Amino acid sequence: MARAVVGVMALQGDFREHQAILEACGAQVVRVRLPEDLAGLQGLIVPGGESTTMSRLLTSSGLLGPLLEAIDGGMACFTTCAGTILAAHEIRDGIPDQVSLDVLDIAVRRNAFGRQLQSAEVDLDIPTVGPEPVPVAFIRAPSIEEVGSGVEVLASYQDQVAAVRQGRHIGLTFHPELTGDTRLHKLFLAGL
Ligand code: GLN
Repeated sequence: MARAVVGVMALQGDFREHQAILEACGAQVVRVRLPEDLAGLQGLIVPGGESTTMSRLLTSSGLLGPLLEAIDGGMACFTTCAGTILAAHEIRDGIPDQVSLDVLDIAVRRNAFGRQLQSAEVDLDIPTVGPEPVPVAFIRAPSIEEVGSGVEVLASYQDQVAAVRQGRHIGLTFHPELTGDTRLHKLFLAGL
């Protein structure tokens, strides 16, 4: 099988960690900063970081329009934490005019866990990737407060939806890339 070609949005945030995991999984990785970086990508990772900063950079860099076109053209997205905020149809507690890529039919609330969960490492049950729990990190995490009818819930944490899949798109409120488990990235690659 040909190697999957996957972009990692590299405007801000922890794109390097995603790149390392994708490469360990055998994918060819392109860092995406400019519209031309989107050419030929089967999938895109939108990393964690700060969604309001990424929102501003998406607009000021001119990447937003071409990115929306690539998604319309069938590019699948794998989003983590701030990336999932950007991917959501509805963003709660965002800034005025915060960009939504609208790839997941979900409503998310930014910084939903408050100060209790500035940062926590957790073993999460995600049966779709196997019986062993997945070690993940929640860092100033959002919560997914509503999901549309076409959205499959893959995992929950503290009674909040934490991982979803909609078609080939996957959205997580946590970081699997900081704890070294590759199963969620492999799930994404297998769907491309
Ligand atoms: N709280 C951040 C935001 O609103 C997300 C944090 C993260 O990606 N770890 O964008």
